[in-house]
Amino acid sequence: MATAAPSRPHQVLLRWYDAKRRRLPWRERPTPYRVWISEIMLQQTQVSTVLPYYERFLKKFPAIAALASAPEKDVLRLWAGLGYYSRARNLREAARRIVREHRGEFPDAWESVIDLPGVGRYTAGAVLSIAFNRPYPVLDGNVARVLSRLYALRGNVKSAPIQKKLWRLAEDLLDPNRPGDWNQAFMELGALVCLPQAPLCGRCPLSEKCAARLKGLELQLPETGPKRKPVQLRWTFLWIKKDGKVLLWKRDDSERFLPGHWGLPELRHMKIRPGPIIARLRHTITHHRIRAEVRTTHLLAGNMPPQARWVSRSDIKNYLVSSLWLKVLKSASGYPR
Ligand code: SF4
Repeated sequence: MATAAPSRPHQVLLRWYDAKRRRLPWRERPTPYRVWISEIMLQQTQVSTVLPYYERFLKKFPAIAALASAPEKDVLRLWAGLGYYSRARNLREAARRIVREHRGEFPDAWESVIDLPGVGRYTAGAVLSIAFNRPYPVLDGNVARVLSRLYALRGNVKSAPIQKKLWRLAEDLLDPNRPGDWNQAFMELGALVCLPQAPLCGRCPLSEKCAARLKGLELQLPETGPKRKPVQLRWTFLWIKKDGKVLLWKRDDSERFLPGHWGLPELRHMKIRPGPIIARLRHTITHHRIRAEVRTTHLLAGNMPPQARWVSRSDIKNYLVSSLWLKVLKSASGYPR
């Protein structure tokens, strides 16, 4: 490999991890189920945000069987506010598969784990190394940043060739005796010390071996490509009431945003004449900047589409779980106060 290789940092990094690691609930009792849930929740989401969700989720679904037998809307409700709802759907689907195909036990073979819905190379490596002590590496944003700096890797960190290099490095460096702790030590170093904008090199156990630090490149690495340009979208939601109930709409699984979710109908869903605007709001989903308006209107008798359902105001919160819907409801009706 064409990278400058510092000597293996095993002992010093593991010592640092043993002394400085955060006490997090999924680390204290790292069963496969608990590690799996934590790893899925932590994707794109900070630890401080995940903690209360994790506690609530584990309380409601303490084991794989409980998650597998739960209605989807109960799982989504507990996920409300965490975003990326396909993660919750996949978790439930994977739990059902584990019950069906692995007698309710989280599998310990790579092929079975990687085959589960919502599980990719990172998650499979994390669960197998942390919960089963198997020698599989992980590569997330934190690990990629630390490795890029440690080896002063040039090139877009998200590009396929650099990703390949980073996976190879993560694999080569893995401590065969403590692979789970090793992976977590790298992730923890990225989360606490080797920070994206201002790395705390003075507190870093690897500073003497870090090529970026020695070359004065730590603020320039890792290199990233140009940022995605924001995409502007305009949506119109319909607020249709009758006898104290509101018309909700089950979005198709092929929808680009919030597939399979219950929400308010959009104007494009229904051939209907929209009434006056009762609320306007802005919302962001990844790089999409959404400007939405909510309009009242009436449904003509006998015009009930199959995707629609009348839901009482008190029951709405069981259907509308994403932060977008909560924002829409709040601006349209003052809910929930
Ligand atoms: S020395 Fe600085 S740049 Fe290098 S790994 Fe440590 S914190 Fe990151």
